[in-house]
Amino acid sequence: MAELVFFSGTMDCGKSTLALQMNHNHGARGRVGLIFTKMDRAGTNVLSSRLGLSTGALEVRDDLDFWDAIVDRATAGTRIDYLICDEAQFYTCDQVEQLARIVDEMDVDVFAFGITADFRTELFPGSKRLIELADKVQVLQVEALCWCGRRATTNARVMDGLMVVEGEQVVVGDTNPGSSGLVEYEVLCRRHYMRRMTSHAARAAAVSPEVLPFDLDVCPVPPPLPITQAD
Ligand SMILES: [Zn+2]
Repeated sequence: MAELVFFSGTMDCGKSTLALQMNHNHGARGRVGLIFTKMDRAGTNVLSSRLGLSTGALEVRDDLDFWDAIVDRATAGTRIDYLICDEAQFYTCDQVEQLARIVDEMDVDVFAFGITADFRTELFPGSKRLIELADKVQVLQVEALCWCGRRATTNARVMDGLMVVEGEQVVVGDTNPGSSGLVEYEVLCRRHYMRRMTSHAARAAAVSPEVLPFDLDVCPVPPPLPITQAD
């Protein structure tokens, strides 16, 4: 019986590495799969991991219909046993529903990998729909670590060195020509996310001899955020 499985986590927790390993393991047992990704850090039509491995992949665009794409291939006689779907947080809700239908109607396993929440700590729509529909949700066991050593559970956006908590949901880091500045991401524990304390802010505080980086006066808890709807 095929399954829709969502492997979720923060950045840096090895999702793409696991996606590649999963593809290898299934391929080694003679199963045939297709690999999809969207906006991989290495470019289009490639799935790459931070450990340096990569493979060719099909790029998921907003107008891609997974159901049509898989039915077309099956009709043409191509065997497909499973799909690897990386960066699934960027998929549309419709696309996630198409994946569920492929599992149910075509008995094809779908292994989806994605970041759960965005830099505001709100669920990505694709991840939300996967959590709602998946047969299994697995939180990856390789833990990303905050600069303080605690388990990192959030993805902070840093623009020109300053952490921000408002803005467009999807801004790909480091490759953002024409925009206002350099966008980077850093994984943080919840405590340091709430205090807006990135590794850079912690270092800046630490060089000042009279304060400790954990001093609340250095990094006060900011006022509560206004509740905003993801658009
Ligand atoms: Zn921390």
